[in-house]
Amino acid sequence: MRMCPHCNVPLTEVDYSGFKVLYCGDCKGHLVDITRLETIKRSARKPPTDLKAEASEEYRTEPLAQIRCPKCHLTMEKRPIRLPGLTLHLDLCKACALIWLDGGELALLQLDYRTTPAYRDTQDLKQRMAELESDTKRKAAFEHDVAKLPNMPGPIEEAFSNDRDDWLTESSLETILRLLMR
Ligand SMILES: [Zn+2]
Ligand SMILES: [Zn+2]
Repeated sequence: MRMCPHCNVPLTEVDYSGFKVLYCGDCKGHLVDITRLETIKRSARKPPTDLKAEASEEYRTEPLAQIRCPKCHLTMEKRPIRLPGLTLHLDLCKACALIWLDGGELALLQLDYRTTPAYRDTQDLKQRMAELESDTKRKAAFEHDVAKLPNMPGPIEEAFSNDRDDWLTESSLETILRLLMR
């Protein structure tokens, strides 16, 4: 059983935007696998109102305490993340590939990501793909063009399953959008 590095109470496994993470009910902190953090950050599952509520209820500016990794118990490394008007200090254990986020930090990261062009492009693309559903001929032509693009690791549909949101932004998002807008 993993313990909260701040409160020393057992962490509980919860579902966060479709991903299993460990959570402390006392300080509202989350322990997240580093490979999952980017995906959660880019996920569109939680409405902004929920994220804002989560951030304002759970985020506390507190003195920076050094904490130990809940898995290997070595001191975690502070990683500053600059957001507009505020700097978050995430705690990283490289050896375990785990990252600790204090209460509200996960919500703040997602809210920040939603202000980026990459996020808006992704939402725009999803919207346009949904509109294509009623036009099978155009949809087939679009899928045909997308499949010919370089660096496409798979069919476009794969980009829309929730845990592949990251793939979409890294691939030729702008090119895909241009194809759709013809
Ligand atoms: Zn705690
Ligand atoms: Zn560790």
